[in-house]
Amino acid sequence: MPINDDVVVVGGGLAGMTAALAAAREGADVRVVTKAESTLRQASGLVDVLGYLPDADGPVVDPFDAVDRLPPEHPYRRVGVDGVRAGLALFDAVADYAGGHTDRNALVPTVGGSVKPTARYPASVAAGLASDERDALLVGFETVVDFDAPLSADRLAAAGVPFDASGVTVAFPGDFRADAPVTRLARALDENERVEREGRAGVGESLPVRRALAERVAPHLDGAERVGFPAVLGVDDPDEVRAGIEAELGVDVFEVPTGPPSLPGMRLESEFEAALDDAGVAVTAGNPVVDFERDSGRVAAVVVERNGARIPHAADQFVLATGGLVGKGVDSDRDGVREPVFDCHVAAPDDRYEWFDDDPFGDHAFARFGVSTDDELRPLDAGGDPEFDNLRAAGAVLGGYDLAAENSGSGVSLATGVVAGQRAGELATADGEAATGNRDGGESAVGSEASEQTTASGEGDP
Ligand SMILES: Cc1cc2nc3c(=O)[nH]c(=O)nc-3n(C[C@H](O)[C@H](O)[C@H](O)COP(=O)(O)OP(=O)(O)OC[C@H]3O[C@@H](n4cnc5c(N)ncnc54)[C@H](O)[C@@H]3O)c2cc1C
Repeated sequence: MPINDDVVVVGGGLAGMTAALAAAREGADVRVVTKAESTLRQASGLVDVLGYLPDADGPVVDPFDAVDRLPPEHPYRRVGVDGVRAGLALFDAVADYAGGHTDRNALVPTVGGSVKPTARYPASVAAGLASDERDALLVGFETVVDFDAPLSADRLAAAGVPFDASGVTVAFPGDFRADAPVTRLARALDENERVEREGRAGVGESLPVRRALAERVAPHLDGAERVGFPAVLGVDDPDEVRAGIEAELGVDVFEVPTGPPSLPGMRLESEFEAALDDAGVAVTAGNPVVDFERDSGRVAAVVVERNGARIPHAADQFVLATGGLVGKGVDSDRDGVREPVFDCHVAAPDDRYEWFDDDPFGDHAFARFGVSTDDELRPLDAGGDPEFDNLRAAGAVLGGYDLAAENSGSGVSLATGVVAGQRAGELATADGEAATGNRDGGESAVGSEASEQTTASGEGDP
């Protein structure tokens, strides 16, 4: 028996979770169907709305002001400034982030020693802003090789930040393996595990790891009023970890976003998963949508494959949020570029040499590949008509923008997720009878085989 909901969202990344929350706010019964981890675990955890405009020099100061200067096919032009603001408002209600006090971008130091314009940043990053004039010490760990603190400090200085930056690399305290994952170090800090050190007269003694870390860093402070570490300061309790080290060192502590794996990204994902749980959104995780059923101009159901079985998930409205080229929400082969779930049209030049630029830092057409939509975010066919009446798209599956070049990844996911989800929720709940009809089969299906892998908190992840 098929599973029935008001709204089914395909894809559980930032765009899909946002769409699901927006639809649930409209009173719809919502299900997210997702196959694997999203790119949040690779991303920095920063929420970039718009850092750079195509063909303009320098970073964008106010992303809202800049929306009108984007090309007409850009997703922000579809949803408008109101959509961008609605996306951030939903984000602010879910996540405990900073940056909402102003429309202007903040400048956050990166592991590479550059500064990145961003709209929202975790509290753990706040003391590190490049606009802060307090001198900073960056501390790297010998085993966390993607953050070279002395090099980052040199580059920040060369970039002209208004403070003195210095860097040092120390061994993370304790007897951790050289290849210990960053999550192991972060959990040691969460638990404030005791670590061994050689005490007076060569006698071994143990002390809490946060204190041991502070003791290693203190001799290098040299007047610095804030200290930045790679983003490994706790998985579950970053505020407590930071506060503990701050108390030992007597200066502010911040994280420099690192990854993958990205702890700030993982923490953000947990906050969104908790919000889905609170909103009563069902999550069916760990299996792909491989097909769909059509009912004239509408999607009737998506088909999830699980252990060789094909399980239809019917709904009144659907949102496609399967990500871009990285997560294979948009795929390509010798014959062209495709959107693999609903086979929505994706425009691309026939000549594959036109997909990329010879200059690695040039303007690559492939970076903008994705479905194009109308103002309701319905994917359009090659003739410019909606592919389906009841399908909307959000996030990196959309074309017309280059998230890496613009620094707009999370912003587009939030803005288009909220607009697609809200509209889907409105439509699914507007026709009460249709929605009730949909749910009739659903109640009895809750005890069916698909419910075994379904929780609101994403249990059942692979
Ligand atoms: C390396 C990296 C770094 C980034 N850094 C930043 C940053 O610093 N700042 C910023 O703002 N943004 C950043 N981003 C962008 C941001 O993290 C997201 O990529 C962006 O918001 C797109 O999210 P999404 O939900 O559309 O897609 P994704 O995160 O790709 O999620 C898509 C989801 O759909 C699922 N899925 C795909 N196909 C199917 C299917 N057939 N059936 C079921 N489920 C399916 C996938 O498993 C996945 O869970 C970065 C991205 C990457 C890859």
